[in-house]
Amino acid sequence: MISFHCPIQPNEHIFSWLNRVHLLSGNAKLTHTLQYLSIENKPFKSCNHNQAFLDAVNFFKNKIADDTSAFDGHSPLALWSLSYSYNKFNDWRISNKNTMPSGHEVTQFSFKSNWQYCPCCVQDDIRRCGHSTWHVKHQLPSVSHCYIHQTKLVGDPHYLLDLRKSLLPQVHDFSPPHLEDEALLLEWSLFVFTIYDRLNNNPALGQTLTNRIRRYLSIPDEIKRSDNDIFKSLQEQFDNDVPLSLCRHLFLFYKKSFKRKVTVLKSTLGFSFYKKYKHPVYWLIILYWLKDKISLEDT
Ligand SMILES: [Zn+2]
Repeated sequence: MISFHCPIQPNEHIFSWLNRVHLLSGNAKLTHTLQYLSIENKPFKSCNHNQAFLDAVNFFKNKIADDTSAFDGHSPLALWSLSYSYNKFNDWRISNKNTMPSGHEVTQFSFKSNWQYCPCCVQDDIRRCGHSTWHVKHQLPSVSHCYIHQTKLVGDPHYLLDLRKSLLPQVHDFSPPHLEDEALLLEWSLFVFTIYDRLNNNPALGQTLTNRIRRYLSIPDEIKRSDNDIFKSLQEQFDNDVPLSLCRHLFLFYKKSFKRKVTVLKSTLGFSFYKKYKHPVYWLIILYWLKDKISLEDT
């Protein structure tokens, strides 16, 4: 098996490539392919750094390139350089030994974490190489539009949660979602793509950006419980500046009034006995809020 040629496409998610390897193998069941390739039969989630992902990266390193290109170019994980210190993040990226917690907050996020595709890209990909692929940038958390066509992404929160059953995008025909403010969500998606590209080019930028946020907002280096009072007025400013429809797109505690307990700034930057890291979406919305105040460039 695996004597055939199955190159990974530029911008293709590593699990998309694995699905195509399986389809070409002729095995009826994915479990047989995974067993043969020594890949653990765990969910193929777009942003989960689980054992199936680590095994897929090892397979990639054996078959395609023994470097960090699977992690960098074929997964959305560059965004997680915002959530962790550079040393910690880079160790996950380079060693490919331990799994990194995704920090996905199912009970707090409004956006879904299912796989998404762009119907225009499906047609373009088929014309270009004969089949469609699951693009990495369509899977970045909370994006709603295509980075190429700027059209709405399509998916289904039930059927497209785990790519082990979802084959290639071309077999699906879901309807585009209704979005509260399309123009704003397109702008947001383009913002996330820009940050993702920059973090991919320079993984150390994640920590640099979060440090710039702290400095601009005058957050103490060693934050104490009593410092949490500073977030009250900052959060008021944030809520004033960031469009509510964008906050509603990201967080359930803006969408459902009874849930409104969490504050974005305090839970991301404040003192906590439990918190060790925060999902990149929290950092991205803070960067979006401050995009005209701090530099988002490498230098
Ligand atoms: Zn597209």
